[in-house]
Amino acid sequence: ANATRDRLRIAIQKSGRLADPARSLLAACGLSWRESRDKLFCYGESLPVDLLLVRDDDIPGLIADGVCDYGIVGRNELDEQANARLEIGLSPAYREVRPLGFGGCRLMLAIPETWEWEGAQQLQGLRIATSYPAILRQWLSARGVEASVVELSGSVEIAPKLDTADLICDLVSSGATLKANQLKPVETLLDSEAVLAGPVRGFNDARADLSAMLLRRMDGVLKLKDSKLLMFRAAPDTVPALTRLLADAEPLVQLPGEHAEGISLQTMCHTAISWQQLEELERAGARGLMVLSVERSLA
Ligand code: ATP
Ligand code: MG
Repeated sequence: ANATRDRLRIAIQKSGRLADPARSLLAACGLSWRESRDKLFCYGESLPVDLLLVRDDDIPGLIADGVCDYGIVGRNELDEQANARLEIGLSPAYREVRPLGFGGCRLMLAIPETWEWEGAQQLQGLRIATSYPAILRQWLSARGVEASVVELSGSVEIAPKLDTADLICDLVSSGATLKANQLKPVETLLDSEAVLAGPVRGFNDARADLSAMLLRRMDGVLKLKDSKLLMFRAAPDTVPALTRLLADAEPLVQLPGEHAEGISLQTMCHTAISWQQLEELERAGARGLMVLSVERSLA
């Protein structure tokens, strides 16, 4: 299956939560595509890296079968299919290469609001609806609990109301869907986010260099996610106070040149900067504050 190829093929979600952020991330890595009319296959223009646009469920299998080299998919989907493969004696045949910092959510057990949560033992003999049966079975068996797993492909949260299950195990981000269905989350089975999934073994053809370059560029983009370059002028005697306010940032760097308002300073902040922080800096003596986006860097 893992035939020699001189182009890299990446599977991403065609539409859905991960589709746009996945494309943006790859575009930020310098990739561009000529889109075919049906848009299932996008031919790489700037580099020999092509995209396959698919349902997220198909991504682990495409990598396992060697049809695609990489994929951008939720850890929940990747782990579910790895567990399902293990149940029938197959190795995963892919691995998580990088967490990508978007698509964050948790796979959680949720029970009716009126119940008291007393721990996993309470689940003995109950029916649990989920789209993640393999992860759930693994979690239950690790705790010695025998419950019946009701596999549903969607609308899991209405199962208790329909009496097809007693409780559910589903993805949660804000928790609003659970609340709307009179359910409350009680246990986390998996912390998930979008990940770059790739093959277990490396490449021995042109894909090896392409793959190394892609990962290096991706690291350069991911490292600076949320990073900002902060520039301002200040009188030298205000620098100690400003430095205290910027404790989370990199050390202040003085730029050459003198201004009526003092010296020019800059620093990199790797966490989000709020308006309130900017106003505090201004009160402490910073002038001409500018917050600049930083897109990428090399190690
Ligand atoms: P597809 O048509 O590709 O099969 P889907 O309906 O399975 O799409 P989406 O709903 O687009 O998938 O979700 C894709 C991924 O987004 C999930 O697998 C999960 O990793 C992540 N995600 C983040 N927050 C949530 C959430 N609140 N509910 C569901 N998925 C979420
Ligand atoms: Mg899906």
